[in-house]
Amino acid sequence: RGGSSSGGAPGGPGGQTFDFSNIDIGGIGGFGDIFSSIFGGAAGAAGARPGARGAAESGQTVETNVEIPFRTAALGGKVPVELEVTEECGTCRGTGGAPGASVKTCPECTGRGTISFGQGGFAVNRPCPMCLGRGQIPSEPCPTCRGAGQVRTRRKVLVTVPEGADTGTRVRLKGQGGKGPKGGPPGDLVITFSVTPDRFFKREGLDVVATVPLNVAQATLGSKISVKTLDGKKVAVRIPPGTASGRRFRIRAQGIPKGEHRGDMIVETTITVPEGLTDEQRALMERFAEATNLRH
Ligand SMILES: [Zn+2]
Ligand SMILES: [Zn+2]
Repeated sequence: RGGSSSGGAPGGPGGQTFDFSNIDIGGIGGFGDIFSSIFGGAAGAAGARPGARGAAESGQTVETNVEIPFRTAALGGKVPVELEVTEECGTCRGTGGAPGASVKTCPECTGRGTISFGQGGFAVNRPCPMCLGRGQIPSEPCPTCRGAGQVRTRRKVLVTVPEGADTGTRVRLKGQGGKGPKGGPPGDLVITFSVTPDRFFKREGLDVVATVPLNVAQATLGSKISVKTLDGKKVAVRIPPGTASGRRFRIRAQGIPKGEHRGDMIVETTITVPEGLTDEQRALMERFAEATNLRH
């Protein structure tokens, strides 16, 4: 959609006709943008709706990127999303004319809706900039959309995040995009999630890894520590004597859920070392080092 197919019809003598008006321009960054970059501002509006005079088209499919917190991604949830949708103007129903305005045939394109210009061996059709591809000109432009036939509206949608969502996970909400012009079906809303990092958790597949600091006494003598799971529950973890930095302890089924399955939570230790010892503490440490043959 919105793309690369240039509907190449075999053209007149010595050339080809590229008829842009047959190309579907659904998404953001579709042909509208290309028109505006090639032909300047006025054509942007024209590019937004070439060939609008035919059968019902579907509304704009809106694609957007949404940042979600780590926990919402892992466990699922709902996030509010605000987006801008380009839709048919409700006042003029896409005609661009003020209510009650009369219409006359566009003098620029003589009602065809497209104009063509030649360049080298090519003849190129593009939507008529004067009537915006409609072939007709209203006696008075619509006050809501200033004649464009389209308006941009802001909309708020509450989006359900599936559990186990990750950066790059996409969801398509059918019919949540722009409403369809001339009674056509509405477009879809396509959301790509990107997960913001968590202070505490990292993801490894369906497992979540939490780095937990231990002081020297806890690591050397052993300890029982309390850690918080993804759900916010507190779980006790027994640290055996002589635990090194980087050792991992697995808490079953406290990771990321997926269907029947659920990953684990992994507690990874990191040892913190006391700094700024007093004379007494230093002396004790030296005695300890001698007693255990620790070179230093
Ligand atoms: Zn309007
Ligand atoms: Zn025209």
